[in-house]
Amino acid sequence: MRIVVVSDIHSNLVALEAVLLAAGSFDKLWCLGDTIGYGPRPNECVELIRQHATVAICGNHDLACLAKIDLRDFNPDARKANIWNGEQLSAEHREWLETLPAAADIDSRFTLAHGSPREPIWEYLLMPEQALANFSYISQQVCFIGHSHVQLGFSWRAGFDHVERFLPESGRILQLAADTRYFINPGSVGQPRDQDPRAAYAVLDTVAGTIRYNRVEYDIAKTQRQMTEHNLPLALIRRLQYGM
Ligand code: ZN
Repeated sequence: MRIVVVSDIHSNLVALEAVLLAAGSFDKLWCLGDTIGYGPRPNECVELIRQHATVAICGNHDLACLAKIDLRDFNPDARKANIWNGEQLSAEHREWLETLPAAADIDSRFTLAHGSPREPIWEYLLMPEQALANFSYISQQVCFIGHSHVQLGFSWRAGFDHVERFLPESGRILQLAADTRYFINPGSVGQPRDQDPRAAYAVLDTVAGTIRYNRVEYDIAKTQRQMTEHNLPLALIRRLQYGM
């Protein structure tokens, strides 16, 4: 089975459409949250995710746009964009977002969390020590995470006392080993922060036991124009072209 894994779309419809096009045909799609916030097309992004995702969870920006967490936890630009995103949402999309959990078990092998299993909404899982601590919160071999907007992975081989972190090149195929556990961050579709402005996603092949990390070019200027039209903060518009 071919499963596309996406995260942190952040209302960037142009990037999401590029990812779906590049992904080709797939059996399932898992969405790791923060579908909205920051960007210019919240309803359209929720619409596409509702159409394609077999499992979806929520992130801190989704909850902020729904006014379910305190907007004071965000910097002024993010706050402004979250308020605007929340105002645009149709009642139907709002209702759907409100049903989403921040973590979800797929089966005995795979699980999803927006930030981390330990703190699904807020933890940025970036360091090996954090990954090691977080493995004790789950029983599955592979946990997909988002939130940091950095495409990366952690592997922990049985019998070893340390976790390895890797930053994959686009197109890198990871072969899952039976004696190893993983955290996999597919990166951010709509606002990458790893100095690569291309939209990021991953594809899990459950038959081959592989995960492929991908990047795809999209029309960044088009998203920036849409943001300018809606008077969204300049710093949020600019960062897209730098991938930060
Ligand atoms: Zn995010």
